[in-house]
Amino acid sequence: MFDDIAANLTRIRARIEAAAAAAGRPPGAAQLVAVSKTNPVEAVEAALAAGQRVFGENRVQEAAAKFPQLRAAHPDLRLHIIGPLQTNKARDAVRLADVIETLDRPKLALALAEAMQKEGRRPDLLIQVNTGAEPQKAGILPDEADAFITLCRATHALPILGLMCIPPAAEDPAPHFDLLAQIAARHGLKTLSMGMSGDFEIAIRHGATHVRVGSAIFGARG
Ligand SMILES: *Cc1c(COP(=O)(O)O)cnc(C)c1O
Repeated sequence: MFDDIAANLTRIRARIEAAAAAAGRPPGAAQLVAVSKTNPVEAVEAALAAGQRVFGENRVQEAAAKFPQLRAAHPDLRLHIIGPLQTNKARDAVRLADVIETLDRPKLALALAEAMQKEGRRPDLLIQVNTGAEPQKAGILPDEADAFITLCRATHALPILGLMCIPPAAEDPAPHFDLLAQIAARHGLKTLSMGMSGDFEIAIRHGATHVRVGSAIFGARG
């Protein structure tokens, strides 16, 4: 059942490197975050056996159930939280994650700053931008992003590494990737988490440093 995972990883890694080379970017310019949400621990173990070390989960509770045991066996594992984060889960997220990609509002910035103080742990943070200004989608609106980035860094001294986005499903993602890159450049932010199974090559062409790929590795989610 998990036999395909190693082969899928090999194929995705080759496509990532080919896309980087085609864009004139160096090898390793884009890192693969394997999105293991809804998949069992055995699927993550198959990916670990194939050398994958960076994983993404969108729910804190699911990450807490799966990852502590895996981390004990693989101390170099890196866990990214990529789903909407409630303020009452901020402390659990800070305890668990190496990267939290979904900081998107002032209340959460404050909650994360307090959680980092209490836990004595400072995961890297990315700010999620709702590039399509979709009402149902998480993320700070593009025209509020500059002020929010400044608030996170200047007021809360949070470790902001970069930005993340999920373009609208029915649109050409390229303008959204460009918008994210432009906002990041204005603030000297180097990390761009953008691109999923269906569009990661386009994202790499537009400067992605991290692509979040789930179904193309683990199969369609049930
Ligand atoms: C599920 C998810 C992904 C992966 O999506 P696929 O299309 O399965 O590759 C990437 N990013 C986020 C935020 C997700 O929730």
